[in-house]
Amino acid sequence: MSTPAAVTVPVALGERRYDIHIGPGLLDRAGDLLRAAVPGARRAIVVSDETVAALYLERVRTALTSAGVETGAHIVPAGEASKSLSRLEDLLEALLGFGLERGTPVIALGGGVVGDLAGFAAAVALRGVPFVQIPTTLLAQVDSSVGGKTAVNSRHGKNLIGAFHQPRLVLADTDTLDTLPRRELRAGYAETAKYGLIGDAAFWDWLEAHGTALLDGDAALRTEAIATSCRAKAAVVAADEREAGQRALLNLGHTFGHALEAETGYGDALLHGEAVAIGMVMAFDLSHRLGLCPGQDAERVRRHLAAVGLPVRPDPARTWDVERLLGHMARDKKVKDGRITFVLARGIGRAHLQDDVPADAVRSTLAASLT
Ligand code: NAD
Ligand code: MG
Repeated sequence: MSTPAAVTVPVALGERRYDIHIGPGLLDRAGDLLRAAVPGARRAIVVSDETVAALYLERVRTALTSAGVETGAHIVPAGEASKSLSRLEDLLEALLGFGLERGTPVIALGGGVVGDLAGFAAAVALRGVPFVQIPTTLLAQVDSSVGGKTAVNSRHGKNLIGAFHQPRLVLADTDTLDTLPRRELRAGYAETAKYGLIGDAAFWDWLEAHGTALLDGDAALRTEAIATSCRAKAAVVAADEREAGQRALLNLGHTFGHALEAETGYGDALLHGEAVAIGMVMAFDLSHRLGLCPGQDAERVRRHLAAVGLPVRPDPARTWDVERLLGHMARDKKVKDGRITFVLARGIGRAHLQDDVPADAVRSTLAASLT
C-alpha cells in the first residue's frame, strides 16, 4: 500500500467556489487550510458528535490553535436524532453564546448528521456565517459534505427544514475512515458506486476491480474513489446548484430507497446507503423491465454490490407490502403534480430522468425483489 498525496477537487460555483481536499493527514492541516480559505478567521467553532469528538476533536483543535485560531466546540449525541429542531436551537444559542460574528467559521467535524445540522446553523446564524466541512464518514466524504444542502428533520419527514449554504472548504481526511465501522463504510460505498452508475462506466469498471481492496483499507484507492466521486458531484452541482433539473440524477436508487427507509423507520435496521444499494438494483431492474437497459448490466449492478457485502434486496425476514412501498414513493418530497420522477438507466453510466413510468412496472420490480 502506498501513501498517496492529497488531491484537490475544485467546485466551480463562481464567487461561491471552494476546494475539496482529499487524502491522509489532513486533520493536522486544518488550521492552515482554514486560514487560507477563510482569510481573517481568528476564531472558529467546531460542531461534532460524541463518537467523533472522542476520536478527532483534540487533533483538530490543536491544528487550529497552532494556526492562531481560537476554538470553541459544541458536541451533540451521535445519530440521526440530532438533526432536530431542538438540537438546532441548542446549537444556535451556543454559537451566539460563543460570540459568533459574521466572519466566524462554523466547522462540522463528523458524518452527514453533524454536517447537515451545523451547515443549517451556519446558514441561519446571523443570516449566514462561513461554513467548513471536515467529513469523517465515507458517505459524508463522497456525498453530503459537497453541494451545499443542509437540513434538519421535521416530524413530517426527513430534511424538510433546511437551506442551501455552500461550504468554504471541505477537508476529507481519509485516515478517519480507519475507525469507521465496516457497515457504515459499505453504506458510503453505495453512494460512491452511484456515480459510476449515473455517468461514468469506466469508474464502475474500476470499482468492480478495486472495490474490495478499497473497503479493506487501501488508502490510495480510497483517495482516488473519493476524488472521482467528488468530481462527479461537483460537476452536477456546478451545473444545477439548486436542483432545478439534472441534479436530480443524484437520486438514482433513492426513490425506492426512501420507501424502504420510511418503512423501516430511518434507523439501524437499514442504513441510508444500504437502502440506496437496494434502490439502485431496483432502478436497474425497472430499467430492464421497461426495455431500456440490457439485463446483463442490471445483473452486474446486483452482483458487484452484493460482492462488497451490501444488501441488494429488502430483508426477506421482514414483511413488506408492495402497495405501502408505492404509497411512500408517492409521498416523497420530490414528487411533482403527483408524478414520480424516476432515475432510470440505458446501461451502466447512462442514467436519465423519466416521469412517465407505468405504476405496474414499478409494482413488478418491487414484487420481484420481495419474492
Ligand atoms: P452519521 O453522521 O450519523 O455517521 C454515522 C455514524 O458513524 C455515527 O454514529 C457517527 O458518530 C459515526 N462516525 C462518524 N465518523 C466516524 C469515524 N471516522 N470513526 C468512527 N465513527 C464515526 O451518518 P452519515 O451516514 O455520515 O450521514 C447520514 C446523514 O447525512 C443523514 O442525515 C442524511 O440525510 C445526510 N445526507 C445529507 C446529504 C446532503 O447533501 N446534505 C447527502 C446525503 C446524506
Ligand atoms: Mg443519498
